[in-house]
Amino acid sequence: MEILRTAGEFRAWSRKTRLAGQRHGFVPTMGALHEGHASLLREAKRRADVVSLSIYVNPTQFGPSEDFQKYPRTWEADVATAEREGVDAIFAPQTLYTPDSITQVVLPGWNAVLEGEIRPGHFDGVATVVAKLFHIAECDLAVFGQKDAQQALLVRRMIRDLDLPVDLVVAPTIREEDGLAMSSRNRYLSSEDRSRSVVLSRALGASVDAWKGGETSPEKILAAGWRVLGGTPPDSVDYFTLLDPDSLAVLDARATLEGPAILVVAARYGSTRLLDNAVLGNVWA
Ligand code: AMP
Repeated sequence: MEILRTAGEFRAWSRKTRLAGQRHGFVPTMGALHEGHASLLREAKRRADVVSLSIYVNPTQFGPSEDFQKYPRTWEADVATAEREGVDAIFAPQTLYTPDSITQVVLPGWNAVLEGEIRPGHFDGVATVVAKLFHIAECDLAVFGQKDAQQALLVRRMIRDLDLPVDLVVAPTIREEDGLAMSSRNRYLSSEDRSRSVVLSRALGASVDAWKGGETSPEKILAAGWRVLGGTPPDSVDYFTLLDPDSLAVLDARATLEGPAILVVAARYGSTRLLDNAVLGNVWA
């Protein structure tokens, strides 16, 4: 397994593998790898001949009061995970920006919905770094997790709008045994909050069950989840709502659900924010 530290090294590695006729699958991450990331690596392996993994805690997607400094960095364990999953190359740059870099990829409107409203600038940082990584990686396909559904939808739209030559694969969310979606930030939870946080996946499940039972009213689908959330309320709920995956519009509670939708939740336990979601219908087709 190669460890590549500069954009030039990564691009040269990618060009060499593609010249040899190999299909290159790429998995971008911020490290602190867990089983969710490992599942993306396995998905890339299934679909490509060589797999690369980037580990880069991207400063431009963190707000000034967010956890960039204390974001977990677990380099040795990450290398071991990559080895175990048969990764061919890790791209771990010191930085991806020159001090005077100013160009950004912005999805106007889409960058200010739900997560984007709560974390201003977050999706500009995400779209810009993903575009940079795609240009450097020159990969055939990239695997992202449904865990960050809004991020996956933005990347899908950016690929389409900019004609980027990358196939996007969105892989399912991997969960702990009790249903909590795996996340590098779960380690911040106190043991009491960790137990309480199981309510998020249960609330999503209750809404999904209502939808599976034939309910088409967003209001009633959401009410089924809110009832469960109310039983063990998080410290606060930033949102629990339905998104249209094509327009990224929040669905009107009084409308009728016609096409696929994504049910998204974000909640706080102390200073830790947890995200989760469930798809209603074939969102990623
Ligand atoms: P991160 O390192 O947290 O920025 O995530 C890197 C990639 O891993 C993103 O595409 C995430 O959506 C994905 N990911 C994070 N958690 C999970 C999970 N529990 N299951 C599947 N994919 C995940």
